[in-house]
Amino acid sequence: MVIHLRALILSVPLLLSACAAAPPAQQSNAVLFEGARLIIGNERPPIENAAFVVANGAFTEVGRAGEVTAPEGAARVSLAGKTVMPAIIDAHGHMGYRRGVSFLVENYTRENLIDHLQRQAYHGVAAFMSMGTERDLGYALRDELRAQPQPGVALFLSAGRGLAMPSGGPAPPLRDSPYGVSTPEEARAAVRELAAKKIDRYVKIWVDDREGQVKKLTPDLYTAAIDEAHTLGLKTVTHTQDREDVKAILRAGIDGLAHPPWRLGQEVDDELVGLFRERPHVFVLLTLWGTRNQIFGPRPAWIDDPLLRETFTEEDIRLLENPKIPADAPAKWRSGVVPRGVAKLKAAGVRFGLGDDAGATNGAQYFGFAAHLEMASMVEAGLTPAEAITIATRNSAEILGLDRLGTVEAGKSADFIVLDANPLENIHNTRRINVVYLRGEAVDREALRAKWTAVRATQ
Ligand SMILES: [Zn+2]
Repeated sequence: MVIHLRALILSVPLLLSACAAAPPAQQSNAVLFEGARLIIGNERPPIENAAFVVANGAFTEVGRAGEVTAPEGAARVSLAGKTVMPAIIDAHGHMGYRRGVSFLVENYTRENLIDHLQRQAYHGVAAFMSMGTERDLGYALRDELRAQPQPGVALFLSAGRGLAMPSGGPAPPLRDSPYGVSTPEEARAAVRELAAKKIDRYVKIWVDDREGQVKKLTPDLYTAAIDEAHTLGLKTVTHTQDREDVKAILRAGIDGLAHPPWRLGQEVDDELVGLFRERPHVFVLLTLWGTRNQIFGPRPAWIDDPLLRETFTEEDIRLLENPKIPADAPAKWRSGVVPRGVAKLKAAGVRFGLGDDAGATNGAQYFGFAAHLEMASMVEAGLTPAEAITIATRNSAEILGLDRLGTVEAGKSADFIVLDANPLENIHNTRRINVVYLRGEAVDREALRAKWTAVRATQ
């Protein structure tokens, strides 16, 4: 049954090309998908036995089966027994530096950047925000892919280079990528240069001393950067760990946090809650990867997920185990600072987004897979599966200003995931991927898998 359905779905591009010569009045490139449980991406209950039409890369009609009329000549795809959710939007990661277990500036090549975007597409991630560690090649590739999107390649967004103190930004090998600024005028000049490069909405700043190892951006510098960004119509997002620094930077006008404010184990206190309440537009990317081991323990069950074997080497996978984490860590974690922080911010109405920091020190090389673990971590942190999915889709699209992505609704780009099992029952089912569609086209996951398993075979 599954093989039959796959064959049917894979034949859709053929149908599309076979119909391309038909008269336009028939709208014959339309495809009617029917019979799935449809998660729209907005926390509303799913539509059971849904139907939707995709034409010219977009959803044109969405509703219940029987209520949606297929245009004449439309191909039909049965999705009976499947669940459909919007494609995921990852609002925080770092492209280019990781290549398997190697983590080097030399890896930042066109081929490797495209490989990372293919890994996103393979896992149903439609767009990925590279957060402040770009090199010149990255800007050029982003512009090229924007002008001419490639099939099976996720949308590449970039915050450009970001700002930090000289030699004070992200951990090596990302460290030399941001502008090192020492005066307010240098901070403003860096922001102006980023605006000229047409970065995607956000200026990234680092305000973190990395446990005393580097200098953190001082208030006069980040205040100047935030002010200049706002003057130019840009927004700002910060990597800040310490709670008191988070408070200061909220007062200075930051638009979002790239990490939650409890990374050093500090509780979310009433003063912080009050600052968020006064600033309802400020978002927090939950980025729970850093606490992943405490959430799931030293050898999580998902290490045995066949999906990991489809794209990663045994060496990659071994790194996910951490024998130093005690077996009782998950139980301790569940009563700890992270779920409490999530609950307090949620009660204060804070908008959460998904960021997995893939490609950095914590997020490692698990491009695509890590976005699914973030959703599972959110549920472990006390959110519902519907909330986690909405954070990963609609919220993150809104945060990045992607108004054609994030939900399955008429008029949006047809970026969606067909799942073999229902993630509202078990969030780990977001990884039971049957087909991924980006811009209305099925991603050729088989070809991508063949590329990655060939690498595995040489080990
Ligand atoms: Zn990061």
